[in-house]
Amino acid sequence: MLDSPKTPPPESPSRASSGLLHERVLEIHHYTDKLFSFKTTRTSSFRFQSGQFTMIGLEVNGRPLLRAYSMTNAVYDDNLEFFSIKVPDGPLTSKLQNIAVGDTLLVGTKPTGTLIIGNLKPARRLLLLATGTGFAPFASILRDPETYDMFETVIAVEGCRQVAELEYATQVVVGVRSHEYLGDMAKDKLHYYATATREPYHHQGRIPDLIENGKLFADLGLAPLDLATDRVMMCGNPQMLASLKALLAMRGFTEGNSGTPGDYVIEKAFVER
Ligand SMILES: Cc1cc2nc3c(=O)[nH]c(=O)nc-3n(C[C@H](O)[C@H](O)[C@H](O)COP(=O)(O)OP(=O)(O)OC[C@H]3O[C@@H](n4cnc5c(N)ncnc54)[C@H](O)[C@@H]3O)c2cc1C
Repeated sequence: MLDSPKTPPPESPSRASSGLLHERVLEIHHYTDKLFSFKTTRTSSFRFQSGQFTMIGLEVNGRPLLRAYSMTNAVYDDNLEFFSIKVPDGPLTSKLQNIAVGDTLLVGTKPTGTLIIGNLKPARRLLLLATGTGFAPFASILRDPETYDMFETVIAVEGCRQVAELEYATQVVVGVRSHEYLGDMAKDKLHYYATATREPYHHQGRIPDLIENGKLFADLGLAPLDLATDRVMMCGNPQMLASLKALLAMRGFTEGNSGTPGDYVIEKAFVER
């Protein structure tokens, strides 16, 4: 007998309401009292470009409570992954930080964002500059083989207050370097610089200062910032973004967007309320 027309086909994604997918939480990892990451199922029709974000959230009192989140998984992965802040009184993250395996995550079907390689003019080096959860979009970019096809050198930089907050970014880089396929591509190209601002660590200081005074490049044994060779993506706290924007403008870098590729692209990691 044929299924009734009202029965959804078994493989169609389940939808909470128009434009939202229901995904199942598969894994959760807490790094500190402020940061955690989690993996969910991925409806096969959900597609995005490395570096993009979408709206995700939970159903609260029968309504979706959603916030912007970057996908950190590779575009080809079977699962979705997110890297999240825990804001103690945050409407979403005060609840999201307590999710358990098997819970339902709402995922918006319209990924978007400016942090995509196509928004940059071709060049030899790519700098990915992040603070905190601003590293999230760069995780998917670092996990994309196209990144290593497009650039001779990729420099990933993560700045946090505490050393323990650097762990997620460090694990992403270790994972890329040891990946059976990506590892070979990234071996000689990927450089990683983690810096702490409030605790002793082998690299210390704010990213804009470390770029301005050339220490970051000297520590890595690389040439300093140069408009002729470099393109920059940045994502993080508003103070870092403002300082970097001013620094790049002084050096002649122009901002890119989906209409006009430029020398750098920028995304806020969160909105100040
Ligand atoms: C384009 C975009 C992409 C984003 N991607 C991510 C992501 O991948 N991971 C993520 O954790 N958040 C991300 N955010 C922030 C996210 O949308 C929420 O703000 C965050 O999850 C907190 O939600 P909330 O409802 O608990 O608190 P909100 O009311 O949204 O925020 C309360 C306050 O907490 C602070 N805050 C919010 N988010 C952060 C953060 N990530 N880091 C430091 N302080 C913060 C701000 O001061 C903010 O005013 C992104 C935001 C934007 C605009």
